[in-house]
Amino acid sequence: MLLGSHVSFTKEGLLGSTKEALKYGANTFMFYTGAPQNTIRKPIDKNYTLEAQKLMKENSIDITKVVCHAPYIVNLANNTDLTKYKFAIDFLKKEVERCKELGIKLIVLHPGSAVSLDRKTAIKNIVYALNNILEDEENICICLETMAGKGTEIGVNMNEIKSLLDGVKNKKCIGVCLDTCHLNDSGVDISNFSNYLDEFDKIIGLDKVKVIHVNDSKNELGSKKDRHENIGFGTIGFDSLINVLYEPRLENIPKILETPHIKDNIDSKKSYPPYKEEIEMILSRKFNPTLIEDVLKNKLN
Ligand code: FE
Ligand code: FE
Ligand code: ZN
Repeated sequence: MLLGSHVSFTKEGLLGSTKEALKYGANTFMFYTGAPQNTIRKPIDKNYTLEAQKLMKENSIDITKVVCHAPYIVNLANNTDLTKYKFAIDFLKKEVERCKELGIKLIVLHPGSAVSLDRKTAIKNIVYALNNILEDEENICICLETMAGKGTEIGVNMNEIKSLLDGVKNKKCIGVCLDTCHLNDSGVDISNFSNYLDEFDKIIGLDKVKVIHVNDSKNELGSKKDRHENIGFGTIGFDSLINVLYEPRLENIPKILETPHIKDNIDSKKSYPPYKEEIEMILSRKFNPTLIEDVLKNKLN
């Protein structure tokens, strides 16, 4: 199984990310090229990148399955402020260049939010932007993430995802990232995931699925909230998530945990990533009811 988590990129760029992933016992990972909530980006350090690629090779991490997540504030759906819309397109073009420098092929992107526009127009804007960004590309894949339906988010059901994919001309450069928390919150019952995949295959094609975000959810089915929970501690539950993780049709697809860090029980400003413990639990296929306590005991940083 290709299993990893969100890791940081701030220290030593891709080298820091790789070291962090290895600490968790992961064989893949996902990173943001800077803070997810802003678009300030430092130039890529070539030496760290080369060292990272070497370290990945030594540890059999397939770099073509490592994922970059675009910042979630770039919005391709709304063009009422043309300067902002153009900035978003331009930023993503640069993000594609950064990924090529790093040797990364998969970029996860939130399609965007319609805000004041109707959904049809919003979809048209996203398609226009993606066609612009992907025009001359070939070795990169932008993976549109399925969204929970918070506010005016686009990409909240299969038809919207299909409209987006249909509009993009450069077919080999566009794919989908399924997020289990977002699916649950948008109204897809993960305990029936196999049925969802059947339908997805009929309408879109399973070959379009390039990344899975594996998260439990703090909220009920169809809540449109988008708040992630640790594996087995939310409303989706351990058994349903295990079925997603071990689904044979998705065997070679990287599975990325974006579950919340555990707050220190004494100093609430400190928190610890739960990924090593969650990965162990997933690989053993046995729910660990003391996961939170274990994370606070191990205090991995
Ligand atoms: Fe995301
Ligand atoms: Fe996600
Ligand atoms: Zn989310």
